[in-house]
Amino acid sequence: MDAQRKHLTVALAGNPNSGKTTTFNNLTGTRQKVGNWPGVTVEKKEGKVQYKNYDLTIVDLPGTYSITAFSIEEIVARDFIMDEKPDLVVAVIDSSNLDRSLYLATQLRELDTRVLFVLNMEDLAKARGIHIDAKKLGDLLRVPVVFTVGNKNKGTDALLEKIIEAAEAEFIPPRDRRVRYNQDFEAGITTIREMLLAVAGEKLPYNPRWCAIKLIENDTVIRERVLKAAGEDAPRIDEEVERWRGRLADMYDEEPEIVMTEERHGFIAGVVRETVRTSAEKRVDLSRNIDLVLTNRFLGLPVFFFFVWAMFRLTFNLGEIPMSLIESGVGLVSQGVSAALPEGLFRSLLVDGVIGGVGSVVIFLPNILILFFCIALFEDTGYMARAAFLMDRVMHLLGLHGKSFIPLLMGFGCNVPAIMATRTLESERDRVLTILVNPFMSCSARLPVYVLLAGAFFGARAGNVIFGLYLAGIVIAVLSGRLFSKTILKGGGAPFVMELPPYRMPMAKSLLIHMWDRSKLFLKKMGGVILAGSLIIWALSTFPRDIPALHAHKANVAQIEAAAEERAAGLGEEEKAAVLAGKDAKIEVLEREYAAKANSRSYLGMLGQAISPVFAPLGFDWRQSVAVLTGFVAKEVVVSTMGVLYGAGEGGEQLGEELKARGMRPLGALSLMVFVLLYMPCVAVIAAIRRETNSWRWTFFSIGYSTALAWVVAAVIYQGGRLLGMGG
Ligand code: GDP
Ligand code: MG
Repeated sequence: MDAQRKHLTVALAGNPNSGKTTTFNNLTGTRQKVGNWPGVTVEKKEGKVQYKNYDLTIVDLPGTYSITAFSIEEIVARDFIMDEKPDLVVAVIDSSNLDRSLYLATQLRELDTRVLFVLNMEDLAKARGIHIDAKKLGDLLRVPVVFTVGNKNKGTDALLEKIIEAAEAEFIPPRDRRVRYNQDFEAGITTIREMLLAVAGEKLPYNPRWCAIKLIENDTVIRERVLKAAGEDAPRIDEEVERWRGRLADMYDEEPEIVMTEERHGFIAGVVRETVRTSAEKRVDLSRNIDLVLTNRFLGLPVFFFFVWAMFRLTFNLGEIPMSLIESGVGLVSQGVSAALPEGLFRSLLVDGVIGGVGSVVIFLPNILILFFCIALFEDTGYMARAAFLMDRVMHLLGLHGKSFIPLLMGFGCNVPAIMATRTLESERDRVLTILVNPFMSCSARLPVYVLLAGAFFGARAGNVIFGLYLAGIVIAVLSGRLFSKTILKGGGAPFVMELPPYRMPMAKSLLIHMWDRSKLFLKKMGGVILAGSLIIWALSTFPRDIPALHAHKANVAQIEAAAEERAAGLGEEEKAAVLAGKDAKIEVLEREYAAKANSRSYLGMLGQAISPVFAPLGFDWRQSVAVLTGFVAKEVVVSTMGVLYGAGEGGEQLGEELKARGMRPLGALSLMVFVLLYMPCVAVIAAIRRETNSWRWTFFSIGYSTALAWVVAAVIYQGGRLLGMGG
């Protein structure tokens, strides 16, 4: 006996007819019966082989397509792997039938056992024009991969070598290489997993995520074992599982296990898409046929851009209808409140602070709803995954993968849910990078600023200017992404699998749920941050009040009023109306002038004058400086602050005229728009960044980087424009 000899148990698992028994014979040198029909090996067989200083026990497991415990073969195979815990499981894969074989192989991968992939039948694959990129496959799933041709005994030595290597290697649980289910399922898995950890912890027979998945799938065998480990908490867990099963079945109109199986197939379709090149292939199923067009090398991108374009058209054009309705609704409310309350601080607080502030933002709700509806539609049909796939190459420009594209696209709606959507990215680095560039995607809150300024200063070219700003945001995001991935966030990012789930008919219910989940965030932001911000701005622009000036102003107005009444008294109907209208116009001008003067004396005004030197190189006056500061609350607020400070009320056109009258020129407007596009994200986004990166360092970095960049770019535009004689 050699004391140095080590013993290893190696189990062969795979679909029927994948060549397990052939491989077993090759390894052990025995002559088990091989047959080319399923179900030949129902019992497991054991054989011994000595290789270098190892004694290997090879176990030939019955052939199965999955480990869901539907059949006796599956149960035998699964129990052996989970209870006997072999040192290594060799997944024997039929290379000419990769999708089908990978279903079992990836399930084995989820068990937290060491797995090695044998790509058998390499000859058949080649004959069918299937080329498998083994290295990529190995990187994606983080498994060692060996090619063999079983019936010719080719690759057996390499396989033995790899078996030893894999069994001896340090074991890293494939946490980031697992199938990720969709957000609803992941939410259920996480909840149940945490419950299991809390009540059973160490006593759990298998890894907690897997237990949670099996419970949701209603795998009776595993359920019994897990519940036993949970002891007296079992009924509570059972109840929670049933609740989730019911909810998921309800949302998807399908048993949860069926949806999960589909998603696993989606994951595998993604793996195959990444690793297999086929020269002559026959595609059959519908999803694949659709994909033939939608992910086509030439057609894919144009079709995708068409969809995005259609989405934005829908968002803005369809959104306009309810938008004007809401706008007049807000107007009515504010008139009603004005009429019902006596003039004074409280009325001003309600009308200018609460209704004015929140009202100027609530009008964007329809756009947001439509945008999120479209995004939910893309997701639920399965198209979003294709979009990510198509954008993969483009995203590499940023040092990212296609998957990061979805959060970036959502950023056009609102950066808050977009940043939350980065949770679907496995790699920490990709997540941080995607979060950092996300705020450059021009969110819908910035649109009112563009509409106002471009509309007032660029006339017929306004549309092009706005499009240019969106484009500039994308370009800056690409450049920043490149910069970050070459400096502070090095590394190419982990290889990953782009899931290509089957196309599904979207269900109205789940569409609405997904749309609503995101819109809720927007509403919360409005109720919380924007309301608070509006109140603060209102208070800062109202106080300190110059009471004597106020009285003088009021007396002045009263006097004009009285004088007009007197003059009108002796006149006929028509002339009377003219006089009164003239009086009203005069008073309106007075009111605005007074408001502007009062504002410049307010705390906000003082603050603006104090900071305006910082913004002078960008061509901003003190009012714009203040507006930009208050934009920290939410970027829409830039417009409403200017409305207050220029005494121009809510009307966009009036504000535009007022800006021109106070000396703003197209160059200054452009500088302001660019600054608003690039400078630090609003407070809700900052909170989201903090939450999702879990780091103050990245949060402050994001604030500092974007603000510095905004300042420099706006200064270059303004000063450069002046040098070129474009006026300032
Ligand atoms: P099992 O059901 O997984 O145990 O599969 P078997 O080992 O019984 O093999 C099924 C059939 O495939 C047999 O006829 C084998 O000779 C054949 N076979 C095994 N490996 C290969 C291979 O790499 N290439 C080809 N062309 N045939 C193979
Ligand atoms: Mg067999």
